[in-house]
Amino acid sequence: MACKKCGACCKETTMRIDISGKSQKDIEDYRKYLSLHACSSFIQGDTLTVLAPVMCSLLGYQEGKGYICSDYENRPEICRKFLCQKAKDVEVLNVNVNDTVKTKEATRG
Ligand code: SF4
Ligand code: SF4
Repeated sequence: MACKKCGACCKETTMRIDISGKSQKDIEDYRKYLSLHACSSFIQGDTLTVLAPVMCSLLGYQEGKGYICSDYENRPEICRKFLCQKAKDVEVLNVNVNDTVKTKEATRG
């Protein structure tokens, strides 16, 4: 099975912020503010990606099964499109990458 049901993907929130036109000073000040709120961040081009340690309220846990989305059929599109590196690492040895992504997407959370 591709997904390890570890719940890591649902235990934090990711936000992407357009920082084009912002000064280096403003960006560093904002990153300092984020770090004081326990958020990590990194810059890729004009985008600041913020990782906030906020668990999704729909994440559930079942003994013996692990972490599972409690509203899987209605989960947001961003959850459906998420590509899990952990799940890929498990399958990459013997499965086609496209199959891995489909398997992971079918079992996330
Ligand atoms: S999709 Fe990945 S991070 Fe999320 S629960 Fe499955 S293995 Fe863990
Ligand atoms: S909606 Fe479900 S899949 Fe999406 S983050 Fe929440 S628990 Fe995870």
